[in-house]
Amino acid sequence: MTTSTPSAVRTRFAPSPTGYLHLGGARTALFSWAFARHHKGIFVLRIEDTDVERSTPEAVQAILDSMAWLNMQPDEGPFYQMQRMDRYREVVQQMLADGTAYYCYSSPAEVEAMREKARAAGLKPRYDGTWRPEPGKSLPAVPTDRKPVVRFKNPLDGATGWNDLIKGPISFDNTELDDLVIARPDGTPTYNFCVVVDDWDMKITHVIRGDDHVNNTPRQINILRALGATLPEYGHVPMILGPDGEKLSKRHGAVNVMEYDKEGYLPEAMVNYLARLGWSHGNDEIFTREQLVDWFDTRNLSKSAAQWDPKKLNWVNAHYIKNSDDADLAERVAPRIVQRCGNPQAVDLTAVMSLLKDRAETLNQLADGAMLFCGPYIPANTELRAEHLDEHAVALLSDFKKQAEALSDWTSASLDDLIKSILAQHGVKMPKLGVPLRLAVTGQKQTPAIGAVLAILGRDLVLERLGAV
Ligand code: GLU
Repeated sequence: MTTSTPSAVRTRFAPSPTGYLHLGGARTALFSWAFARHHKGIFVLRIEDTDVERSTPEAVQAILDSMAWLNMQPDEGPFYQMQRMDRYREVVQQMLADGTAYYCYSSPAEVEAMREKARAAGLKPRYDGTWRPEPGKSLPAVPTDRKPVVRFKNPLDGATGWNDLIKGPISFDNTELDDLVIARPDGTPTYNFCVVVDDWDMKITHVIRGDDHVNNTPRQINILRALGATLPEYGHVPMILGPDGEKLSKRHGAVNVMEYDKEGYLPEAMVNYLARLGWSHGNDEIFTREQLVDWFDTRNLSKSAAQWDPKKLNWVNAHYIKNSDDADLAERVAPRIVQRCGNPQAVDLTAVMSLLKDRAETLNQLADGAMLFCGPYIPANTELRAEHLDEHAVALLSDFKKQAEALSDWTSASLDDLIKSILAQHGVKMPKLGVPLRLAVTGQKQTPAIGAVLAILGRDLVLERLGAV
């Protein structure tokens, strides 16, 4: 038996740079990336920038930034369609020469009239084939006052189908498909045609994209066949719905990937969460990037739409934060403290992370919490002082200060022990000392575990603030 070596897997992500990278695009990119990585193949990035009115360099940059943030670097590209115009024109000429495409001189008004006629006859509106050459058919005289478009000679009968990697068999009758315009009167190629030439030239073996492209696929397959190209496999990913079941949009919150960076989500958590939106590996909710790559299989992509669940994203992010290394978290949170006009060097930020990370859902929450240590000290206002710093409390604090001065080590364990022993000595319960202590040292009534807070603030600062009560 002979075994043929399957050609190396090559996938691509082909965004149109008309805005930021949205969550749906990032998820499609992730699936293409994971599929390529799983098969030790190549992941290509192609920027589909032929819509010059709507494409911007800022949007290209936003796509590149988002992909870098999610650590989905392409192996090849970015390739820009606008830089490949000569190649598209060349293929148009080749198809005209081969007879798989033809010049069509019908004016837009004439094409509209053809469509109207078909509609009136209860048929699907379409171009009527006036300029389509057929053996034995004579074509009208070429008008001299207009430039032609180039149309693809789509098969007239039969069906065009594929076995979708996600949706299973899909088929379209060729009578449903018009003779597609592949080049405009000024010679510029049209959208579907550029995609075909690129997928062909870039030797893409698996096209994984949003299911809003299902209708383009039979047209692209027919052109690829006319070119004698090997067909890629296609997988169309269902869309993402918002929590209310409507298509995910701005109404549901941020849809721009980089907004999640700003809000303090970890890219690892984002990748984990996005992967689970429409893909599964048993009941696993938390997995590493390596496991995703290891397990990724298009058979486990869901046929039905996925639902965006911000609570679950927060849960996943909290998990990643809790399991992050303290020093690594400190590094990620430090710039966010600076944004809040705090000083990340004011204390041992690693210790702060260790104290706060079990209860934080985002890096921003960590930064907010860290401001207790890195922000300006704002003493408690008179109202709070009047309520909690009565004579008895002041006496307790003074005793605490005296004994704290004598502590040989300033750790949260020794401070906790001291607090306990003062409570016992004075026969009072924790709030009687805890609240005044917090108020005196941090200016706030509520803080994380007080022993740890005092340990992080440091002996000098704590004694100084206690001295000022
Ligand atoms: N440029 C298209 C889009 O952003 C994707 C085309 C494709 O994946 O074939 O929707």
